[in-house]
Amino acid sequence: MSGSDRNNASLPDGKEHAHVKDTHSPERLQTAGDQLTRLQEANANLVIATIEARKLAEQLQMAQVELDHLAHHDTLTHLPNLILLYDRLAQAISVAQRTGKPFAVLFMDLDAFKHINDSLGHGVGDQLLLSVGKRLLGCVRQSDTICRKGGDEFVALLTDINHPEDAALSAQKMLAAIARPHHIEEHDLHVSASIGISIYPDDGRDTETLIKQADTAMYHAKGQGRNTYAFFEQEMTERAVARQATEASLRLALDRQEFVLHYQPKFDLHSGAIVGIEALVRWQHPQRGLLAPADFVPIAEDNGLILPLGRWVLYEACRQAQARQDMGLPPVIICVNTSALEFRDSDFVASLREVLEETRLKPCYLGLELTETVLMRDVRSTDSALHELSDLGIRLAVDDVGTGYSSLSYLRRFPIDTLKMDSSFIQSIPQNADDAALVSAMISMGKSLKQHVIAEGVETAEQAAFLLDQHCDSAQGFFFARPMAAEALTPLLKSGFSVPHYRH
Ligand code: C2E
Ligand code: MG
Ligand code: MG
Repeated sequence: MSGSDRNNASLPDGKEHAHVKDTHSPERLQTAGDQLTRLQEANANLVIATIEARKLAEQLQMAQVELDHLAHHDTLTHLPNLILLYDRLAQAISVAQRTGKPFAVLFMDLDAFKHINDSLGHGVGDQLLLSVGKRLLGCVRQSDTICRKGGDEFVALLTDINHPEDAALSAQKMLAAIARPHHIEEHDLHVSASIGISIYPDDGRDTETLIKQADTAMYHAKGQGRNTYAFFEQEMTERAVARQATEASLRLALDRQEFVLHYQPKFDLHSGAIVGIEALVRWQHPQRGLLAPADFVPIAEDNGLILPLGRWVLYEACRQAQARQDMGLPPVIICVNTSALEFRDSDFVASLREVLEETRLKPCYLGLELTETVLMRDVRSTDSALHELSDLGIRLAVDDVGTGYSSLSYLRRFPIDTLKMDSSFIQSIPQNADDAALVSAMISMGKSLKQHVIAEGVETAEQAAFLLDQHCDSAQGFFFARPMAAEALTPLLKSGFSVPHYRH
């Protein structure tokens, strides 16, 4: 007999007792216990699952927020991106429609950012963009939006303005903030920007137009010499169209050999002898005639075409200089203007050596004219490039002295031979006392640094006489000789220039 039969037999009502017997049997108890444990476990699991579900929901929500942030912000600077800007612009338009108050869109582009990126690497470029973004934020109110459009372009939406002049003030503030040196890694980077401004409702009533007009005005500001701002004007659209046409034909001009060099001599103020010749590029445009550098060099600098163009200028200037020497003419130093982008190009020195080898011109007959801003960009790499050039025997001049950022320490540090005072100071001497004092000061500074000082843009005998009195070494300008074609230069070099009278 089994144990269970024995229990059944001792009970009067089999059915009832079978139940009682079941609940109390150790097996059943065991099963119930198991079930309870399982129930408890399931309950615990449910609690855990609920907690996890809640966590998951929170994470999902966070991811959603993050995704939303990512969709509306720039990943590098975390500033609003174009999508968010369009959104805020649309809001600003509907508010302005109600209040009748204007607002401004500022389109900003860093000047020559590309070559910082190219020469110092993207890491430095990224940090510079971060630093610029931070500075821009410091220039506007909480209610304004600073957006990074992409690359080195930023757009600001200033909603709280009463007049367009308020936007101009903000633009000035931004330019000043950006111009302060950016300390990145071991570099002290000096950058500038150009800003275009469009005003709602005068320049556009929809988001796209407002941004487009601000962009057009920005290009205009770049054309004005950079580090400046410009308000949109209707005529700019026509100019922007013309600019695009220029850009397209510029690409073809090198292949079609449409560039020519003109030459302007530089004279020793004491003896009247020629001390150098500057090569100035011209574009013989098939429809528009002979174009000055101002019409195409800034465009070529923006789109990088200045690199092949600059190389052509260098090659051609050296080739023609050597050809003149081969003809038996006395050797004269040929000076070539070098853009920041060319100078920053890592191949610049190598390519220059190649040009000298191919044309057989001795390095001591080549001079480079660099602007102050070229030298200020990245002091350390500039220093080594300049020493390399100077060691080759190439003369180095700083062009347009007085117009760039004023830091005189670099003049002492770099192997510079010549300071070329900008024509804007020369124009008003000797009448304007301030400019006269500045010119004297620049001459004495050059002298004390043992540099050769030259004045450019000398147009009158009075200017030449004043410069001579101040012990300026040499001069260049319409008063002595205008820039001329190569065919005109050769006979003059043969026969000798007769310098007009300017001594007291
Ligand atoms: P820059 O190097 O400062 O050249 C002086 C400019 O002043 C030249 O203008 C010259 O024609 C002009 N000039 C000379 N004497 C006088 C004068 O007495 N009065 C006045 N009002 N102007 C005078 P240009 O040829 O139009 O060149 C303008 C600028 O374009 C140059 O300024 C230089 O920065 C740039 N440039 C010229 N050729 C080249 C080139 O081959 N490569 C590069 N990167 N830039 C160039
Ligand atoms: Mg020059
Ligand atoms: Mg100059």
